[in-house]
Amino acid sequence: MTKTIAINAGSSSLKWQLYQMPEEIVLAKGLIERIGLKDSISTVKFDGRSEQQILDIDDHTQAVKILLDDLIRFDIIKGYDEITGVGHRVVAGGEYFKESTLVEGDVLEKVEELGLLAPLHNPANAAGIRAFKDLLPDITSVVVFDTSFHTTMPEKAYRYPLPNKYYTENKVRKYGAHGTSHQFVAGEAAKILGRPLEDLKLITCHIGNGGSITAVKGGQSVDTSMGFTPLGGIMMGTRTGDIDPAIIPYLMQHTDDFNTPEDISRILNRESGLLGVSERSSDMRDIHEAMRAGDEKAQLANEIFVDRIQKYIGQYLAVLNGADAIIFTAGIGENSVTIRQMVIEGISWFGCDVDPEKNVFGVTGDISTDAAKIRVLVIPTDEELVIARDVERFKK
Ligand code: ADP
Repeated sequence: MTKTIAINAGSSSLKWQLYQMPEEIVLAKGLIERIGLKDSISTVKFDGRSEQQILDIDDHTQAVKILLDDLIRFDIIKGYDEITGVGHRVVAGGEYFKESTLVEGDVLEKVEELGLLAPLHNPANAAGIRAFKDLLPDITSVVVFDTSFHTTMPEKAYRYPLPNKYYTENKVRKYGAHGTSHQFVAGEAAKILGRPLEDLKLITCHIGNGGSITAVKGGQSVDTSMGFTPLGGIMMGTRTGDIDPAIIPYLMQHTDDFNTPEDISRILNRESGLLGVSERSSDMRDIHEAMRAGDEKAQLANEIFVDRIQKYIGQYLAVLNGADAIIFTAGIGENSVTIRQMVIEGISWFGCDVDPEKNVFGVTGDISTDAAKIRVLVIPTDEELVIARDVERFKK
């Protein structure tokens, strides 16, 4: 019996979950927010309790120290030495990392170097890794990449039809994201369907604030909707997803908004999507509430959102030449009865059909009618558990 912690470090936050392994029991979880700012907030949840403290936390090392001391303070562990493993989520693994790996040799330098591909994420992920190295230098430390699951994509899927040199010199290709989530729900789907993963063709829809859809064949990613960065693919809370690239030079010439790379990135990543179209919120619950009150912009935002998901499912039915199941996961996929119903209703010709009696709030598992040819499943994702399991594999 050992304790392993899964870490998801952002630029000003650190999300964590402590497991007892190999039993896979969650002992505690928490979130530290506003790192580097005044009045940072540390929340710890355990045994049905939620404890919060507000204090100034300067950096990730101090955040990790506070988290470890909280674990002792709340009697969740007796001493640091009870924690024998840590797994860090890293957003970009580029072409270096085809699977999770121990933090040793030049791994940390490579994670930092890949900050070129994920400037908002990888430096923060690296700060989390360093913080644990400082405080718990001897435990098994593993990095788990959002992109690894997608390294099985064939070249025709991951290459863009740009001049070759932008791939060979600038590494511009499709990397995808949410890999741990797609991998996890594909595995769970095989269990629900009672068939070997190797025999299945699945379309996994991770629809949260960020969202991506993946075509999974025999347990391997063969295509995914996010691209070079997590901006590509379906419409998201604040991100455009795919748009005609010619829009950008056009708006650079004809508006005062698109001047610098930072402007372009901000507008496409933070001011678009559900937020940009509804002019109200990036949160699907707010969009649905506004729709019920007759808000037309929210209505349109929802329609575009559903349309893009349907189109990607259609693409992947073509890529896979059919599918055994479509899986919904993440905040919207797991919780929104409306989105699931709208998406599937519009593509029923392919042989999927949701049973309204099964498609209810809180459901997990198969929500299809008995006669449906393509099963529709709701599966809660668990990226932290995938990280904790990966750490176990490396423990001696
Ligand atoms: P992130 O990408 O930040 O991890 P999540 O997976 O937590 O995001 O998903 C957040 C999204 O899930 C938000 O748009 C939120 O409105 C949506 N969501 C959560 N519960 C519901 C619900 N009951 N109905 C509709 N949308 C929901």
